[in-house]
Amino acid sequence: EAPAPVFGRILLKLSGESLMGSLDYGTDPERVKAVSAAIKAVVDRGVQVAIVVGGGNIYRGMKGAAAGMDRATADYMGMLATVLNALPLQDGLERLGQNTRVMSALTIHEVAEPYIRRRAMRHLEKGRVVIFAAGTGNPFFTTDTAAALRSVEIHAEAILMAKNGVEGVYDDDPRENPEAMLLRHVTHMEALQRGLKVMDSTALSLCMDNKVPIHVFNMDDERNIDRIVSGERVGTLVTS
Ligand code: UDP
Repeated sequence: EAPAPVFGRILLKLSGESLMGSLDYGTDPERVKAVSAAIKAVVDRGVQVAIVVGGGNIYRGMKGAAAGMDRATADYMGMLATVLNALPLQDGLERLGQNTRVMSALTIHEVAEPYIRRRAMRHLEKGRVVIFAAGTGNPFFTTDTAAALRSVEIHAEAILMAKNGVEGVYDDDPRENPEAMLLRHVTHMEALQRGLKVMDSTALSLCMDNKVPIHVFNMDDERNIDRIVSGERVGTLVTS
């Protein structure tokens, strides 16, 4: 029998890439299904789950800016891209019978509820999965920052930071350096000072200031979510 969950409420950060599978762009229905099943499994164990979805599989503001576009405009496009990921994820979860709400930081009220903190918390208490779309609603930020911000706001006990193709945080880029070593535990400060790839520095600072633990793990094996919720040490743990 599975041990009791070690968390009551978590925030899962899913990059756009984690829904892309082996495609070059967009969302892969098979990945969405697998990720949805893994999320539902932990909700069924009594864990409240909020999700921040990224948009990098569709659009990144930096890319538009590099091509000469106004950065803010490009970032708004990026935020809209996250909405395009939130909806298939909602669909995937609801097909499994899991109630969900998409809450958007940009108002698109025909499509998603506006983000209202107390309402988000109420949804979670009722066992609904809340998917936060449109990041923070501000250009020059990322969905990592949104994950940090929302986790603090809703009193999530930890951020589960999903990565693809890597097991956690390394002392060097494992895609370039085969000698790179997986780090099992680092502090927020150490990660910031060494420039380790946990999340961007703005997001990481916010987690440090508010002592939010971050579990960085490989989402290619989506059972990792359940393992972390069971208290198993998977990937890298970042604490203060
Ligand atoms: N973005 C933004 N403000 C936010 C969150 C996201 O401007 O609060 C934009 C930004 O352009 C970013 C894009 O949305 O590149 C997609 O988000 P992100 O790159 O964080 O997605 P991920 O890498 O997690 O897939």
